[in-house]
Amino acid sequence: MNKPRIAIAQVYHESNSFAAASTPLAAFRVLRGAEIPRYYTGAHNEVTGFLEGAAVHGYDAVPTLCAFATPSGVVEAAAFDWLADALVEALRAAGPLDGILLALHGAFVSHNHDNADAEFVRRVRATFGPQLPFVVTHDPHSSIGQAVIDNVDALVVYKTNPHVDMRERGLQAASIIIRMIRSEVRPVMAYRSLPMMVNIVHQHTASPPLRDLWASLPALEREPGVLAASLSLCYQYSDVPAMGNAVVVVTDGNQAQADRIADDLAARLWALREDLDVRIPDVATAVATARAAPAGPFVIVDIGDNVGGGSAADATFVLAELLRQDADGWVVVLADPEAMRACHAAGVGATLSLRVGGKTDHLHGEPVAVTGRVKCLHDGRFEERAARHGGVRWGDQGLTAVLEVQAHPDHQPSYIVLTGTRCAPMSLHQLQSVGIEPAYMKILTVKAAIAWKAAYEPVMTGFVVADTPGATTVNPKRWTYRKVRRDLWGLEGW
Ligand SMILES: [Zn+2]
Repeated sequence: MNKPRIAIAQVYHESNSFAAASTPLAAFRVLRGAEIPRYYTGAHNEVTGFLEGAAVHGYDAVPTLCAFATPSGVVEAAAFDWLADALVEALRAAGPLDGILLALHGAFVSHNHDNADAEFVRRVRATFGPQLPFVVTHDPHSSIGQAVIDNVDALVVYKTNPHVDMRERGLQAASIIIRMIRSEVRPVMAYRSLPMMVNIVHQHTASPPLRDLWASLPALEREPGVLAASLSLCYQYSDVPAMGNAVVVVTDGNQAQADRIADDLAARLWALREDLDVRIPDVATAVATARAAPAGPFVIVDIGDNVGGGSAADATFVLAELLRQDADGWVVVLADPEAMRACHAAGVGATLSLRVGGKTDHLHGEPVAVTGRVKCLHDGRFEERAARHGGVRWGDQGLTAVLEVQAHPDHQPSYIVLTGTRCAPMSLHQLQSVGIEPAYMKILTVKAAIAWKAAYEPVMTGFVVADTPGATTVNPKRWTYRKVRRDLWGLEGW
C-alpha cells in the first residue's frame, strides 16, 4: 500500500492593530518545497513536528508553502490576497493528497479580513472539500473564531508560553491526522469563546495564576477519547470581534465528552479573573530596581516595545533612563539600520557620536544621543539549537553593530546593539554571536513580555517588568478599541 501523502503548509502572522505601520508582502519570508525541510529540520517548530511525523507514522510529508513574518502591524489586503492564493495554489500543485497539516498563528489580521486565519481555512476547505482530513495548529496568542472551528477537523494550540512545545504540538496534529486517514478516529470539537482577556503580563504558563490550569491539559489528553485540549491566552493587541480567551477540545466522535471538558476548562479560566491584577512599575522605578539588585544579570522587561508582539523594536525609554540614572554594565538592543550603517562606515575601533532609536514612529520615544566605540560588526546571523520561544533554529537580526558605551573609566562597559532588522529576544546567541556574554552583565534589557524567559531564565538573577509606552503597552486604557466585543473583561485597564 502506498503511504498516505500529507501536505505541510504554514501561513503565519501575529498582527498588532495598534502598530503604526501596515505589513506588506515584502515582510514575509516565503519558503517552498525542499526549502521547508532545509529551514525547519533541527528546529523546534510545529512544522518540524509535521515533518518528523512522517517517520513516526509512516506518511509522506509533502512540503508545499511556508510564509511567515516577524509580528507587526495589520497586513495589507494585497499581501493577504497573494498569500491566500499562493497557499491554495501550492496545495493544489502538490498532487493527490490524503490530508493537509497547516500551521496558522491565529492572530493574522489583514485590512480585508479581521480573522484572516478563518479565511485561509475556508478557502482550503472550499478547494479540497469537506472529506479531506485537515488539521490546523495555532499559537495561543490567537483570536480563535467560530469560523476556524467550522472549517477544520481538529485544532491544536501550543500549551506553553514561552512557546517551547511547538514541535510537540506539530507531532500531535500529525498523530490526529494520520489516525483520521486510517479511519481510527473521527474528531469532533467543542469550542468556547470567553468574554475575557488575560493580560499579557500574566501569560507565563509556568507561573501562577495560569500555571495550574495550563498544567492540567496533558492529563485531560490522556483521558480515553480525548485527542486535544487547548486554551488560548488571547492576543490583546488585536482589535477584532473574536479577541479574547477561548477553549477548544477535540475528542474522538464524542461531542458530549468534548462539551463537558470544554465547559469545565472555561469555568476554571473564567474564575481566574480575581488573580489578574496587572499594575507594574514605571520605567524609572524599574531601572532603580535593576541597579539595586545585589547581583546581575538582572533583566528589565520593556513590555511596551515587545517585538514579538508587533512593536517597533527601537523604543528608547529604558535606554534614556539607564543613561539618566548613570547605570553601567547594561545591554540595550535597538533596531536602527541608520545608526548601524554609521558604525559600519566608521569601522571597528572608531569612536562616534550618533542618535539611536526612536526613529520608526511616534509611539516609541525620541532618538537618544550617545557617544561610543564600535566594538563589533557582524552579519547578524546566529544559531539556536535549544527549544526556545518561536522554535527557530536560524536567527537573523540583520547586519549588526555593537557600540560600547562607558561613561566613566571605573564603570563596566555597556553595549548598544544596533540591528538591521527587528529581532525579538528569544535566544542568548543574539548577544553571544556579537561578543557579549549575557551572564557577565549587570543589567540586560529585553523588548518582550514573556517569550524571552525561555532563553534568559538560566542566566538571570531576577527581573522587573517596566510599564513602558509603545505599540505593546499593557494598559488597554491607552488604546481605543473599536471592534472587540463590548463586554470583554480585562479591557477596563487602570
Ligand atoms: Zn505567541
